[in-house]
Amino acid sequence: MRRLFQFHGGVHLKEHKKDATVQPVQPARLPKQLVLPLQQHIGEPAEPIVKPGDKVLKGQLIARPGNTVSAPVHASSSGTVTAITDHPVSHPSHLNAPCIIIDTDGEERWITNKPAVANYHQLTPEEIRQHVRDAGIVGMGGAGFPSHIKLNPDDHVVDTLILNGAECEPYITCDEMLLRERALEVIVGLRIMRYALQAKRCIIGVENNKPKAIRALDEQVRNTGADFIEVVPVPTVYPTGGEKQLIQVLTGKEVPAGGLPMDIGVVCHNVGTAYAVYRAIEFGEPLISRYVTIAGSVAHARNLEVLIGTPVIDLIEECGGNPNTLSRVILGGPMMGIALHDVRIPATKTTNCVLVNSTIGDVPLASRGKAAMPCIRCGLCAAACPVDLLPQQLYWYAHAKDFDRIQDFHLFDCIECGCCDYVCPSHLPLVHYYRYAKTEIWALQEERRHADIARQRHQFREQRLEREKREKQERHKKKRAALKPAGDKADEAKKAAIQAAMERAKAKREAAQPKNVDNLTPEQQAKIREAEARRAQGKTEQQDNTP
Ligand code: SF4
Ligand code: SF4
Repeated sequence: MRRLFQFHGGVHLKEHKKDATVQPVQPARLPKQLVLPLQQHIGEPAEPIVKPGDKVLKGQLIARPGNTVSAPVHASSSGTVTAITDHPVSHPSHLNAPCIIIDTDGEERWITNKPAVANYHQLTPEEIRQHVRDAGIVGMGGAGFPSHIKLNPDDHVVDTLILNGAECEPYITCDEMLLRERALEVIVGLRIMRYALQAKRCIIGVENNKPKAIRALDEQVRNTGADFIEVVPVPTVYPTGGEKQLIQVLTGKEVPAGGLPMDIGVVCHNVGTAYAVYRAIEFGEPLISRYVTIAGSVAHARNLEVLIGTPVIDLIEECGGNPNTLSRVILGGPMMGIALHDVRIPATKTTNCVLVNSTIGDVPLASRGKAAMPCIRCGLCAAACPVDLLPQQLYWYAHAKDFDRIQDFHLFDCIECGCCDYVCPSHLPLVHYYRYAKTEIWALQEERRHADIARQRHQFREQRLEREKREKQERHKKKRAALKPAGDKADEAKKAAIQAAMERAKAKREAAQPKNVDNLTPEQQAKIREAEARRAQGKTEQQDNTP
């Protein structure tokens, strides 16, 4: 029996998990239109490789990764690309983002899949990571970090690979249903991931309120003889499903602030990710669908296998939700989910739950619409914080916009779990303040980064201009020096040429003197003499008349 550890704080919440686990999971209806955001993951957005008017097949690559920390996007069904445009997406900023829109043709025609790998041991760990990358797999527990990166140990030694099946938020049951229905596939996916990481052992952590899932996993572990895999029920305390919290509960190790689980020899993946890895390696299938819980005020709460890109409103209608009475739709759970501003927003690779008009009382106190009151310094928030922070201090500094001091209190270690909100008797919307402070700090950092880049560019430009000026002067100097002897010679040659030209002109002039005074007749000579005498006479008279 594995010894379990406790993390600080946490809260007990009403579960609301039964309704959606009665029915087996079924594929959701094919939507008329799919909306595929280019960014469904942490990192650079994918870059489209299709254009409006293109026909696409199910599973076809339609956007390639932007860089290493990125993930490709594939068509979830066959049809025609009608636009690549900004569309509402699930984001706290409520800003639109670039999406590829596909009108489905109802035929669900697949691309020819890559050949299935009969035995994943035929591949190297690097090849496994490449398959995972090509399949567009990202962390399906909510964070959406590209999985091929988390499957690369680099120079770390991975002792333990943990599969996170805790699923601690109320209402969400998609991981539980996956484990109940696809336990074998999840275990095969886990083995593939272990091979890629060369991890020594595996632990699957599941909250102890999911006995059917635990039984299904135990059975498959026994059947496959995988003695390096341990299925461990963990206490049902929110937020046990947080990566750092689950690692602490299962191993007693704490991930250092600002560090990664790999720093302590642990890697943690979601059970949905393991299933996607299994399908990518065994069938060459990209990630185009996932299990999603539709719960809250709908007639038939359940889990559906949803094509990525399906609009949320389609899922609500399929489960008997009334589109005319929607007041609050959350993507995710009531504690950490994002309230939607538009129900045309699509389900993405990280969508685990659509929560419709969730019942008052199941969401953090600050969200119940009660007026916030001053902090009474009761300390309940600090007692509930699973990261052992001082939420009231964070609140004060966020409120005062003291963004330096708030970082001294480790704002960025806050996982935004909402436990502090939940217990605060003053109904303070604490997490809103933390998100606001984080956004402001990121914006300031971004501003500083841009200013630094601009300053560097300016300095580089100044240095370049100075260098070019110096180089130009050098070049001119060298040219002048190189041209000097040749110039002297050229001057002399020029002078000689002018002299020669002058002499030629003189000779020409002399040669051009009148030659008609020779061989004249006596009459002509007499006339010349007369003319000269007249000219001499005129000259003398002119001199006499001169005053
Ligand atoms: S729980 Fe609320 S009232 Fe109590 S110390 Fe924290 S912020 Fe203040
Ligand atoms: S939201 Fe942040 S500060 Fe509040 S309890 Fe969770 S981790 Fe602690």
